[in-house]
Amino acid sequence: MFELPKLKYEYDALEPFIDAKTIEIHHTKHHGGYVDKLNRAIEGTELEQKSIEEILSSVSGLERVVRNNAGGHWNHSFFWEILSKYGGAPGEIFAKSVEKDFGSFDEFKNKFTESALSLFGSGWVWLIKQDGILKIVQTSLQDNPLMDDAKEKGIPILGIDVWEHAYYLKHQNKRADYVSDFWNVVNWNKVEEIIKNS
Ligand code: FE
Repeated sequence: MFELPKLKYEYDALEPFIDAKTIEIHHTKHHGGYVDKLNRAIEGTELEQKSIEEILSSVSGLERVVRNNAGGHWNHSFFWEILSKYGGAPGEIFAKSVEKDFGSFDEFKNKFTESALSLFGSGWVWLIKQDGILKIVQTSLQDNPLMDDAKEKGIPILGIDVWEHAYYLKHQNKRADYVSDFWNVVNWNKVEEIIKNS
């Protein structure tokens, strides 16, 4: 049985950039829904004994319902972790790595933003580490770079949910404003920890 993880901050912690109602609905209803549906889909099967990462790494052979909801569960669990009220500044390892692979932090930020704005429909944009190199990739729906059949596989370092449910209440159709606000609530300490361990 998978469980909906508790957030490490209050629903209103990311105000004014991401509003409390959006975080509450996103966490309890959307993420909660993925967890419930995943549990229902794997009930009584051998998948019950597997970790979420194990499920993702063999997802190409599994039913669509497992793929969507296992992806949804992993993606959102990751997303909550890389957000924080106190964004701070990018850590040393992160800063050096993006400089190496993108030229500068601003260049990276622009490319990531562009990718988040150009993604058609619902999905995610990720910064991944692929064979030691940082790369920005898009995935559709609840797919992610950990899936065995992902076009671009790698270790997620940072990610943004660009489904409308992530921003519609506050930003309506203005995805650009949401992405711009996102940069104010990135948990750079967590991102540094992730890249350090990648
Ligand atoms: Fe979402």
